Amino acid sequence: MILSEPKPFEEITGYLEGEKSVFILGCNGCAQSSGSGGPVQVAEMKGKLEGAGKKVTGTKVIDFLCEKALVKSGLRGRVDEVAAADSILVMTCGIGVQAVAAAVNRVCHPACNTVNLGGSRGEWRGSERCQECGQCLLDYTGGICPLTACTKSLVSGACGGASNGKCELSPDKDCGWELIFNRLKAKNQLARLKVFINPLDHSKLMARPEMLATSRYALEQSDQEGR
Ligand code: SF4
Ligand code: SF4
Repeated sequence: MILSEPKPFEEITGYLEGEKSVFILGCNGCAQSSGSGGPVQVAEMKGKLEGAGKKVTGTKVIDFLCEKALVKSGLRGRVDEVAAADSILVMTCGIGVQAVAAAVNRVCHPACNTVNLGGSRGEWRGSERCQECGQCLLDYTGGICPLTACTKSLVSGACGGASNGKCELSPDKDCGWELIFNRLKAKNQLARLKVFINPLDHSKLMARPEMLATSRYALEQSDQEGR
């Protein structure tokens, strides 16, 4: 389970500034359980965006947006609606937004922040990773997470040490910021690089106390107390 929370509506309309139309994607997996991107929230978002003067060309809720194959097959019958929109608003966790941005050659906006649960999430076979920073930056980076794609987790641009597209610290790994640059270029979004990104609020990278109550730390503690 990955926990996501809705971003403030003003932040979302800020992302959509200058755009007239949008397609909304929701997720029937963790986002539905989180109450941030299931059918109910997608319908609510459609009404709010239309109230804000945006044209919603269509909506779709897919079982797991974190799975690129499901994203592609789920949108197969909605190609015209997606093409008619200036962008896609993706109402799910950071992994799902990254997967949609990689699978669909359209501008993608994140509608949620992914919250740190303070535990282990197990293995994930997809290439997308989320560090649950609680302040999702994917709108500025073409849908590639700077915290996980960049070895140093830089959020304000490349360190300058890359060589032939590879990271200076991990030569077997692509430089995350070159990937971000190339993605933004491919989506005609290079202007996003000029947007000032506030320094990370590191307190949001930590699990909140109430989250720790359901994490492995709490389970370990209750296990010890039971001995
Ligand atoms: S910026 Fe990266 S770490 Fe933060 S919520 Fe988005 S995908 Fe996750
Ligand atoms: S070379 Fe690229 S991926 Fe590596 S630390 Fe620098 S900016 Fe990040």
